[in-house]
Amino acid sequence: MESVDEWIEKQNFKTTKEIKVPPRLVDQVIGQDEAVEVIKKAAQQKRHVIMIGDPGTGKSMLAQSMVDFLPKEELEDILVFPNEEDPNKPIIKTVPAGQGKYIVKQYQEQAKKKKNEKKNSMFSILFLLVLIGGIAVVVTGNYSFLFWSIFIAIFLYMFMGAGIQKEEKALVPKLLVSHSPNDKPPFIDATGSHAGALLGDVRHDPFQSGGLETPPHLRVEAGAIHKAHKGVLFIDEINMLKLESQQSLLTAMQEKKFPISGQSEHSAGAMVHTEPVPCDFILVAAGNLDALQGMHPALRSRIRGYGYEVYMKSVMEDNDENRKKLVRFVAQEVVKDGKIPHFTKAAVAEIIKEAQKRAGRKGKLTLRLRELGGLIRVAGDIAREEKAKFVDIEHVIKAKKLAKPLEQQVADRLIEIKKEYKTFLNKGEAVGIVNGLAVYSAGSGMAEYSGIVLPIMAEVTPAQSRDQGRMIATGKLGEIAKEAVENVSAIIKKYFGKHITNYDVHIQFIGTYEGVEGDSASISVATAVVSALEGIPVNQNIAMTGSLSIRGHVLPVGGITAKVEAAIEAGLEKVIIPKSNLMDVILDEEHEGKIEVIPVSTVEEVLRYALVDCPKKEELLKKFEEIQGYE
Ligand code: ADP
Repeated sequence: MESVDEWIEKQNFKTTKEIKVPPRLVDQVIGQDEAVEVIKKAAQQKRHVIMIGDPGTGKSMLAQSMVDFLPKEELEDILVFPNEEDPNKPIIKTVPAGQGKYIVKQYQEQAKKKKNEKKNSMFSILFLLVLIGGIAVVVTGNYSFLFWSIFIAIFLYMFMGAGIQKEEKALVPKLLVSHSPNDKPPFIDATGSHAGALLGDVRHDPFQSGGLETPPHLRVEAGAIHKAHKGVLFIDEINMLKLESQQSLLTAMQEKKFPISGQSEHSAGAMVHTEPVPCDFILVAAGNLDALQGMHPALRSRIRGYGYEVYMKSVMEDNDENRKKLVRFVAQEVVKDGKIPHFTKAAVAEIIKEAQKRAGRKGKLTLRLRELGGLIRVAGDIAREEKAKFVDIEHVIKAKKLAKPLEQQVADRLIEIKKEYKTFLNKGEAVGIVNGLAVYSAGSGMAEYSGIVLPIMAEVTPAQSRDQGRMIATGKLGEIAKEAVENVSAIIKKYFGKHITNYDVHIQFIGTYEGVEGDSASISVATAVVSALEGIPVNQNIAMTGSLSIRGHVLPVGGITAKVEAAIEAGLEKVIIPKSNLMDVILDEEHEGKIEVIPVSTVEEVLRYALVDCPKKEELLKKFEEIQGYE
């Protein structure tokens, strides 16, 4: 595929203002063609869906677009009525969409009429009372009769008045779920909802008697499952939902109705239990791969048995068609934001280049479009601040600096500190010390964006136990780093044979802290250990990253671009990377040509570049050549 700059020249638009944005949400989804097919089918057949994939790849967007494929005619309003026989078991009724409001109004009018009738008869009684008092005054000449009759009338007015008011409220049903006849089927996002919000609740009543209480049916609140009746219920991070809630959700899906009762045990609402309330929804459960583990097995199996499972794509091919889609994506995001200006051709090219880089693999474009959308908005805000008519290339470049993910900011800060305190060298030579490269991740799955120099130090001491030498690793290591140490130990044993049993090898990962994973540190560990064992110094102007097979082949690692960038930032001159990763190094203009990249495929090559030239080194490499059996 030609370079983005050449490609963009051939496109016949000046700014994204000329690009048409499709009106339907589903047609705006980019790069998830299979998922689009599945959700269309699921909507037509009313099936549940599990969507697994990276954040910001369009899961909620797809779920939302399902409502365009659901029939509108089926929409219903749900009402809750008082139950005279058993007030704590309110009655549930459904009517066609739009009618609920009228029914409530009718009841309100009726109740008002009744209230007025009652009020009138009450006033007649009160009037009669006062009249009798007046007559008694005339007959007896004693004024206290009038006083008493007025007093009793006022008392009766207050007492009966409250009763009438309450009666009026008690007769009117409550609209739990309402629509207008032309509404689309509902899309309800219940991500992070607690049980009450998801399954419905009955409010607590602080005045449970004495004429001030609210009738039970008026305290009933619909849950997300009921609001999603005949529509789509979307739950992201489904594993965060409590297991009991997942169980109830499963029941609701099976029965297609679920009664509402108070969720808090100690509240007066817990006594109230409505008739089953309809909740015939399509569930779209989303999350990343880990989410599957936290999911109730029965719920998962229900969806598997009666629905679809989709794995979202994180990258797409870098070709003409998909680049055009990204151009449209920029236009879409501008239109959606509504406040930022459109992008010029050159600015769009910069966004496409960023999509290439963020894909982390040559020949691909990222589909983590929420993050890319964030960059578009920041660039737009900068242009708007500068009162520019369009967003141009310099705005995007500024935005890239400003919109660094938190992980990158943390990594930057750490690099600064490390430089200041000289926890690593970037020139000269040292025995047993290697500049490894790691990625910084705070567990958000954004690891590929932030690299960091991770110095590794090895020291050899006489073995403590007589019959075996050990490899001892210190520093805050992730599981994978520990495994790397084990692997290296196998290789070292192979090359150094019995000799090594006389020594303990200590390996220290310097300045490690939570979140740093040295998964790709195998070649650095191996180099540090060999250097320490043989006393051959390591060139400190080199950084390295790569995994090792137990046979000594260098295997590809992740986050390669970020790691190479980290090496550049740290002022290193050369970087050793796995040959199979060479295609994945995508540097932007700022970093291009600033470092010598050395691709390698065996541990022997690593040592050849990393160790300082000396007779001992030649001897060592010769030995390696003799023993090795690379296929
Ligand atoms: P997820 O649910 O996977 O975390 P979202 O659907 O919430 O992601 O995506 C957030 C925003 O990112 C969307 O509103 C849209 O602007 C943009 N976006 C994400 N994925 C896509 C996609 N595949 N096509 C177009 N836009 C997308």
